[in-house]
Amino acid sequence: MSRTQLQPQPRGRTLLVVDDREANLVAMEALLGDGDWQVHTVNSGEAALQALLELDVELVLLDVQMPGMDGFEVARLMRGNPQTRYTPIIFVSAIAHTRDSVLEGYATGAVDFILKPFDPQVLKHKINTLLAHEHNRRDLQLLTQQLDSARAFNASVLNNAAEGILVVGEDGYINFANPAIAQMLGGTVDGLKGTPLLAHIAEPVFEQPWRESDFYLHWRSGATYRLHEAQLKKEGGGTLPVAISCSPLPRQQRSMVVIALDMSVVRNLHAQLETQAVTDSLTGLLNRRGFNQALESAVARADRNGKSMAVLYIDLDGFKRINDSLGHEAGDAILCKVARLLETCMRPYDILARMGGDEFTALLDSLDHTEDAAKVAEKLIELISVRHRIEDTEVTLGASIGIATFPECGDNVEELLRAADMAMYEAKRAGRQQFRFFSQEMNGRAHARLMMEENLRSAIEHNDFDLVYQPQVWLDSGRLRGFEALLRWGQNENDRVLPGVFVPLLEETRLIERVGQWVLREGIAQCREWLAQFGDGLVLSLNVSPVQFARPGLVDMLGRLIDEYRLLPSQLELELTESALMMDLDQSCAKLRSLRDLGVRVAIDDFGTGYSSLAYLRNFDLDTLKIDRLFIANMLDSPRDAAVVSTIIDLGRNLGLEVIAEGVETMAQRDWLIEHGCDVMQGFLVAPGLQAEQASRFPSQLDWQTFDRRS
Ligand code: C2E
Ligand code: CA
Ligand code: CA
Repeated sequence: MSRTQLQPQPRGRTLLVVDDREANLVAMEALLGDGDWQVHTVNSGEAALQALLELDVELVLLDVQMPGMDGFEVARLMRGNPQTRYTPIIFVSAIAHTRDSVLEGYATGAVDFILKPFDPQVLKHKINTLLAHEHNRRDLQLLTQQLDSARAFNASVLNNAAEGILVVGEDGYINFANPAIAQMLGGTVDGLKGTPLLAHIAEPVFEQPWRESDFYLHWRSGATYRLHEAQLKKEGGGTLPVAISCSPLPRQQRSMVVIALDMSVVRNLHAQLETQAVTDSLTGLLNRRGFNQALESAVARADRNGKSMAVLYIDLDGFKRINDSLGHEAGDAILCKVARLLETCMRPYDILARMGGDEFTALLDSLDHTEDAAKVAEKLIELISVRHRIEDTEVTLGASIGIATFPECGDNVEELLRAADMAMYEAKRAGRQQFRFFSQEMNGRAHARLMMEENLRSAIEHNDFDLVYQPQVWLDSGRLRGFEALLRWGQNENDRVLPGVFVPLLEETRLIERVGQWVLREGIAQCREWLAQFGDGLVLSLNVSPVQFARPGLVDMLGRLIDEYRLLPSQLELELTESALMMDLDQSCAKLRSLRDLGVRVAIDDFGTGYSSLAYLRNFDLDTLKIDRLFIANMLDSPRDAAVVSTIIDLGRNLGLEVIAEGVETMAQRDWLIEHGCDVMQGFLVAPGLQAEQASRFPSQLDWQTFDRRS
């Protein structure tokens, strides 16, 4: 084995023999060669140090006397290096040593001495013992290292955990705290140590001593104790919501580990979600759900001690107009403003909510008299019904309010709300800007309405509708001008419901579209059948509801029907009301123009009862004015009505429009109309609405002379 060439050695059991004399090295190699180890030899102190750095040497046999660096020097340097500090050294010395020199050897770190000449067996024995020691030392060192790193790992886990961790002794005092819990409590890790755990818990309140607390009792029984909702006491004051678990550590540790989870974010989120679910985000008032809950609990506290409670349903008048014309932002601003106004009328325990759209509700609790609700309603209407400034525009609002009292109008949330809602509708129908108390009569009407609505739906399904045709006659000649188709519902005369009752209902429920379509097709088909008999000069008047007129597709549908039944468009006249035309002026103008393009005639129905504005008469493309039958009924007795009728007749003549007088019942009325130059009449004097086959037999020319006798 070369002295200079260092071979990489496998870990463990390597002996390094250091001697300046080659012969000694060879002898030592021969002596130790058969042992359970590797022997490495070097011939100087310097080479020894180098080998020690490069090899994992477990034992050094070190010659004391060497030229240059002697054995003591090597030993001293070895002890100064952490890597070789504990490596065992056996000094080998040829000369008889003084006690001093042996002592010096030990002082430099020798573990043993052996003097030449020596007994090889003794040397081997020493080597074996020292190697075993060295092995134990190394194992121990490894274990210590592992322990250190495990401890460091645990500490870093505890230090970096986001959850608060405490170790609490069986006496209830804190032994350990991690930085997270210190931060949660607003204190320091050291400050927490040695303090009682219970001193840091605000909720639940632990009044009993530690050994009777649930923490201790659970620990005693070896169980984990959990507190889902607890509050920690913060050092600077205030509390922190947490979830706590407390688990026993192994018995001999006589302590428990307490983990606290910061729940503030979660709880805030919860609270936020809960408020969001019951508040209206626009106005900050309660929303429908919130109001229902509030009303529910108010009803549940039925112990009214003689006081009454009222639910107000508030609907804004004119809001839709503002929203449509000024935009949603202005609409939102108005709603917020109204919310603030309404709030000013509420007493502290009243509850205000926005149900959606422009509908608000209020719950007035503990009223001395139900009439007090009326006073509040009156005040609310007064407050809202003023001019409001929104984005430099002045707008006028109003409110209609329905009032339902508890328990008279209902004893649960649904009944009370429905009653208040119904009363609100009554207030609206009565002309807005008012309030109404709910009454049983209203309830009856509502029920009847509901039933009728259902019946209407089934009538549509079973095609229970019918048209009757009321003749229109030229006043000058008695010639038949045409018929107005009037809708009938019900099989025989007796169970017929008047269109004045069910048509508005059809409009409200939007069923009018389907029924209206049916009317057009049925009337047009009938007109086609009459073609042979009455010729293509016959006019069929068809009533078109405002709702139907506002929907797109009316003109297209008429065009298709006219093609399908091969009629002259001028044979059809649509009767529109003024309100239908005024709803959306631009759209109405465009629609009238396309009806005109199609060639269909247009009449204004019930003329004189609405706006009767001259401006629109000039702007709209019209053919006919129908004077409302109320004026005709009163014109012979009331000069004012007579003036209205004659003015309309003049107006029509001047504008080139045909004028039809509706509801003519007497010859006197007919004569007056002839005298004043009215064109056409329609009314019971001539005939009521007739079944189709009756109408088919109607003469195309009335005998005006013989007609006298009928009246
Ligand atoms: P309207 O268009 O003004 O129809 C004329 C109403 O006056 C009809 O009532 C008719 O029966 C009635 N009447 C006719 N002559 C006289 C008379 O000499 N004296 C009196 N007192 N009344 C007379 P009806 O059929 O009850 O219709 C009421 C309203 O229902 C109609 O008023 C019209 O607005 C609506 N309506 C009728 N049919 C339809 C329809 O097919 N579609 C739509 N949308 N509305 C319809
Ligand atoms: Ca009509
Ligand atoms: Ca009419």
